[in-house]
Amino acid sequence: MEEKKRNILLSEDQIKTEIQRVGKTITEDYADKKLYVLSLLRGSFIFAADLVRAVEVPAKIGFMTTSSYGHSETSSGTVKIVNDVPDDITGYDVLIVDDIVDSGITMDFVKRHVESLGAKSVKTCVLLDKPSRRTVDIKPDYCCFTIEDVFVVGYGLNYGDYYRNVPYVFNWEA
Ligand code: 5GP
Ligand code: MG
Repeated sequence: MEEKKRNILLSEDQIKTEIQRVGKTITEDYADKKLYVLSLLRGSFIFAADLVRAVEVPAKIGFMTTSSYGHSETSSGTVKIVNDVPDDITGYDVLIVDDIVDSGITMDFVKRHVESLGAKSVKTCVLLDKPSRRTVDIKPDYCCFTIEDVFVVGYGLNYGDYYRNVPYVFNWEA
């Protein structure tokens, strides 16, 4: 079967430009801090790779994997740690990086967890924010794009097992 038509919502150029802007802000904000970038797998691996190259302060980088039980397109409300923070982050200024904040359940959970591990400060950075779907009161500290309530794919975001390697963000026409 032929694939439905793709709507490109965010082009490679748009993403690149916005990451440069956010990277500059982070560079200024973390100039005198002990930055630890915590990238949440798998969704943020591409965003995090581009973001850290736009940040010009020394940064330690680690990865954490969570999963939410239930339906794959939305969080079910229960977050499970699959792979925990791999370093002692006591005293670090941790920046949690994810692909998207949707209900907010994942980011809220990870933020509390990182705080409990003794980080000096904890902030959050996402490629996409979908505020209309929020069920938990959390607002990302750094955000590249705010989007409508549409399921988006590409640039790290998956549909099923695939499409993470598409270099732009899109959805399919109905
Ligand atoms: P939350 O816990 O904020 O509801 O969900 C966060 C996770 O849900 C994201 O890390 C992502 O895996 C998934 N998610 C939420 N919205 C979308 C979307 O529009 N597209 C894709 N591919 N995943 C999404
Ligand atoms: Mg995800």
